[in-house]
Amino acid sequence: MLTDRYGRVIKSLRISITKRCNLNCIYCHQEGETCKPEKEISKDTIVRIVSSATGFGVNKVKFSGGEPLMRSDFEEIIAALPALKDISATTNGILLAQRAASLADSGLDRVNVSVPSLNKEHYKTITGSSHAYPMVLGGIDAAIDAGLTPVKLNMVLLKGINDSGIDEAIKFIARYDGNVILQLIELMNFKNNVSRFMVDIDGVEKMLGSRATQVSERSMHRRKKYFIDGVEVELVRPIDNSKFCANCNRLRVTAGGKLKPCLMRNDNLVDINENATPDEIRGLLEKAVMNREPYYKG
Ligand code: SAM
Repeated sequence: MLTDRYGRVIKSLRISITKRCNLNCIYCHQEGETCKPEKEISKDTIVRIVSSATGFGVNKVKFSGGEPLMRSDFEEIIAALPALKDISATTNGILLAQRAASLADSGLDRVNVSVPSLNKEHYKTITGSSHAYPMVLGGIDAAIDAGLTPVKLNMVLLKGINDSGIDEAIKFIARYDGNVILQLIELMNFKNNVSRFMVDIDGVEKMLGSRATQVSERSMHRRKKYFIDGVEVELVRPIDNSKFCANCNRLRVTAGGKLKPCLMRNDNLVDINENATPDEIRGLLEKAVMNREPYYKG
């Protein structure tokens, strides 16, 4: 097992496969990556990292970016992975209608789709795109048809833009008969440029608690799940949250092929040479895990 100095066992990898994106969201933290790599991580390097990690008991992989569907070889990457318990991707959904079936055939289990607002004008303000919205909704339908479920609808909360749209989002997912879960995400002010959009997350938590018929907690990050009007709403609350960090079980991989111990830091990355042997990759995974440290400590 890969266990860090704080007793946290690594169970999942979050792999950014490109910095390219077809949207320009005002809030995007770009998975905490501040530079653009000269070369995108190759399929072979991804497969070799995942294969070595599975030897340590890692059984979940989430793909991100940039926009992972910008990689035309995404299906090939997924198909080449060793057997895993869960392979998922977070996408803005624009290309999902065309690719959902082929992604599912390749072995993708499920998707998160970022829908920062269900109001077309707000969606445009947030993402910069006036034409993507209907494509994203088509992508959600295609993902459900392809069995990439449960689809998680990701909504980063932005004060004054979409924070009044939570009820609308709950009503929206209710039509999907349990195939869609709403994931509300606290905004991280990563580049120090979105502080004016920070919401009162205590207020959101209280509101959800008062409406829920049941509340449970996931082991990952101790995220709370609320059952409201027959649907599931998950709250991701990372900021100043030592419980979140204490229960983080993921190691990240950057779009340029570096191991990244924490979303919030770039001073402790571990480079993986394209030609590293499986033995060397195992050593580098251990080194990166030893660099892990909770960003918010209790
Ligand atoms: N393009 C893909 C997408 O839209 O899902 C993947 C990249 S995006 C960086 C991955 C996830 O990070 C999305 O779920 C998004 O909501 C979340 N995210 C991006 N910026 C964020 C921020 N500043 N605070 C919290 N979550 C953020």
